[in-house]
Amino acid sequence: MLYNSTRDNNATVESAAAIAHGISKEGGLFVPQSVPTLTAEDFASLKTMSYVERAKYVLGKFLTDFTAEEMDYCAKGAYLGSFDNDLPAPLKALDDKVNILELWHGPTCAFKDLALQILPYLLTTSAKKVGDGKKTVILVATSGDTGKAALEGFKDVKDTEIMVFYPNDGVSAMQQLQMNTQKGENVYVCAINGNFDDAQTGVKTIFTDDGIKALLEENNMEFSSANSINWGRLAPQIVYYVSAYCDLLDKGEDYLKDGFNVVVPTGNFGNILAAYYAKAMGVPVGKLICASNSNNVLTDFLGTGTYDRNRKFFTTISPSMDILISSNLERMLYELTDHNDKLVAQWQNSLKAEGKYTVNDEVMASLKELFWGGYCTEEQTAATISETLDKYGYLIDTHTAVAVSVYNDYKASTGDERPVVIASTASPYKFANSVLEAIGQQVPENEFDAVKLLSEKTDTQIPAAIAALETAVLRFENVCEKEDMSKVVLDRLGIKA
Ligand SMILES: *Cc1c(COP(=O)(O)O)cnc(C)c1O
Repeated sequence: MLYNSTRDNNATVESAAAIAHGISKEGGLFVPQSVPTLTAEDFASLKTMSYVERAKYVLGKFLTDFTAEEMDYCAKGAYLGSFDNDLPAPLKALDDKVNILELWHGPTCAFKDLALQILPYLLTTSAKKVGDGKKTVILVATSGDTGKAALEGFKDVKDTEIMVFYPNDGVSAMQQLQMNTQKGENVYVCAINGNFDDAQTGVKTIFTDDGIKALLEENNMEFSSANSINWGRLAPQIVYYVSAYCDLLDKGEDYLKDGFNVVVPTGNFGNILAAYYAKAMGVPVGKLICASNSNNVLTDFLGTGTYDRNRKFFTTISPSMDILISSNLERMLYELTDHNDKLVAQWQNSLKAEGKYTVNDEVMASLKELFWGGYCTEEQTAATISETLDKYGYLIDTHTAVAVSVYNDYKASTGDERPVVIASTASPYKFANSVLEAIGQQVPENEFDAVKLLSEKTDTQIPAAIAALETAVLRFENVCEKEDMSKVVLDRLGIKA
């Protein structure tokens, strides 16, 4: 399997190079030349496998330059021992139709762990295969969850350095504490005075700056990315949609006779793109329902065909979705234009220059066929948490609530009653204050009192990783201006500009 850049079909690499470099030279994202398919026999054997085996099977189809031993090492290293009961992605039925894919049983209590527990293995294996012997410097822009999951995945991984930038006022108190107490010798955390898009733009700019690249080269270092622009982040996410389908097969043929819909609370478009790839592989997904919060740039795009980031940015109670530039949409456009690198590059240039672009009618028709986009307000998010608790005795976080709310709108507007898988992307304990407020509780001043109260009131367990933060030592209190990010990076690496 070879990969091309979304902005240059002449940039052709194997998966190891795609993962080791993270992003293509001209700024495009790596995409497989074709999507491997799974047959009914494949699914029958996948059904009886553990998650580790499913991951090896599915990832093996994309990372064909990895040996079976390498795949085995990566999947076992990632998924054995770091998730509750070694079940990274259990499916929980709320009723006959509604299934919640719980993706927050990893070390940082968000779905990012599914990819970021395996990425360090994939990346170090790839770096060896590409064979340049350089130290890998991971730069991360985070809206909260990626940063912690990446730090946890990469801490003390040999020959790597990791640096995380997050928006100073754009993450929850618990997320901030999670990052700033991170252990490990090779980790660094810094807040920026700006929003997530500023952080992401800053990181992308550093990546593609030839001068900085040359400086790193002189010091035998190389940048890579742990954001979902890296194919090594995206591919592992396909696995849990395949896995969810395998688990649904237990419900019998009749249950899935018309397929099932998937709802994803969306920010950077990575998670929902993974669901699209699962569908392209042969998983019988009906509609891909793209759920947004008040930052509803994707809802508008899916409705009109115009992507326009020139709008007000809202800081919401679902901060991991507070994004106006959804990077992975670029891959979707490349797929829907039959890999038209020129057209994709043109749209991305227009996004950069004018903050917007409009796709053609053909792409619009494909988008309409595949997706349904919706969004909900802060009030609806909160009301959905409380309703879901009342109706099912099941507690969801603020991001998952956006998905549930949009799913209800979808059903009301289309009458589509097919079974559904809703991606549950975070533990409610990561956003305890907002969740408490949503269920009508007075929020205590202290973050850990809040967590304890939530546990008492809802009869659910505090995740061990969250409880442990109460006594964790604060290691980082850095803040910088967004213009100074490259200087911060070079300083940390001990490189003089
Ligand atoms: C990152 C994140 C999202 C958004 O996922 P994308 O892949 O960026 O679309 C949603 N919910 C939570 C809890 C997240 O951490």
